[in-house]
Amino acid sequence: MKLFVPSEGSQSDNRVAITPDVVKKLVSNDYEVYLQSGAGDAAGFSDVEYVRAEATIAEAGDISTADVVFSINPLPEQTLSSLKTSATLVSLQDTVARRNREIFERKKLTVFALNLIPRTTRAQYMDVLSSQASLAGYKAVIEAAHLLNRAMPLMMTTAGTIPAAKVLVIGAGVAGLQAIATARRLGAVVSAFDVRASAKEQVESLGAKFIEVEAKETTDGVYAKEMGEEYKRAQEQRLRAVLPSQDIVVTTAQIPGKKAPVIVKSDMVESMKRGSVIIDLAAKTGGNCELTISGQTVERTGVRVVGFDNILNLIPFDASKLFAKNVLAFFELLTSKLSEQPDLSQIDDEIIKATLVAHGGKILV
Ligand code: NAD
Repeated sequence: MKLFVPSEGSQSDNRVAITPDVVKKLVSNDYEVYLQSGAGDAAGFSDVEYVRAEATIAEAGDISTADVVFSINPLPEQTLSSLKTSATLVSLQDTVARRNREIFERKKLTVFALNLIPRTTRAQYMDVLSSQASLAGYKAVIEAAHLLNRAMPLMMTTAGTIPAAKVLVIGAGVAGLQAIATARRLGAVVSAFDVRASAKEQVESLGAKFIEVEAKETTDGVYAKEMGEEYKRAQEQRLRAVLPSQDIVVTTAQIPGKKAPVIVKSDMVESMKRGSVIIDLAAKTGGNCELTISGQTVERTGVRVVGFDNILNLIPFDASKLFAKNVLAFFELLTSKLSEQPDLSQIDDEIIKATLVAHGGKILV
């Protein structure tokens, strides 16, 4: 079976879906792995390393001969159209555009959307959203520390004492918790809040302070929801009191399937100290700060608001390594189930069912 890994360059993404160590594993399981020449360059993996792992370096057009394609981003329309009839595609599929659905049907494609992997313990080895969010949270704090006009840890010098920087993390999910851990390691005083009451314990276990919002409404468990007006008012009040003392704010608040909630208003940014930094990791879904522009840095009264559209581009080596490991785990599950039950439509597995977007051209979402 012929597997193909395209370059993500046309999508302005420095990552690559499969790394040389994962190629080795696939080859040892008798798969032929083809990689578009230079696909790993931006992530730090040369063609030479892939060849050493026994991949074949190919041209972009060779994707049309592949049985299975592994990519991070959804394939562009034209590439999708060039796929072999009945090929299988494993990638992220945030929204499946109408035009792509037509191509899935016409080409009888089988498509798995990795972003639909359920949030269960069993699926965590395949959970690309978690592995990537974790690195994003880490890198957000590193970037903020780099931009900040002061030091992060408490420093006692003969010339005087520098107080520790204050970091506020809004949204304590996977990215937020990693941001908290990173800021703590750098010596900052960290506080955080989240609409999920269950986040309190996790925040505190990392040595950060959980900011309580006094409202009747709360949400628990894995998925956040859009909060009512009372909660929003109470949250805003708490935030207005806390923001003027913060040096760094990292926002990660998201509501699955919806636009990100706007939590930091323009006048709140103006209340912050000159030189402070806001890193908005929700920029791509609208942003948690009113001033955020995706892919840009905006400055207001000396405060920088950075709206990363893909912060993983700054840490593509590890992001690719984790992504590739997740994809391998998913592919191993799929192939093991297929060896037991060769008819994909009959496989009774919650992970496979949840991610299967199209089967032999039949659209399932
Ligand atoms: P996410 O990226 O969807 O959102 C980030 C965080 O923002 C969430 O914690 C959410 O509660 C919070 N948020 C939403 N609206 C907010 C608001 N108005 N104010 C403050 N915070 C707000 O979330 P995520 O990182 O994907 O994680 C969500 C949960 O799912 C976490 O509990 C995480 O541990 C869990 N999870 C479990 C698994 C697994 O078991 N395999 C995998 C991934 C995530």
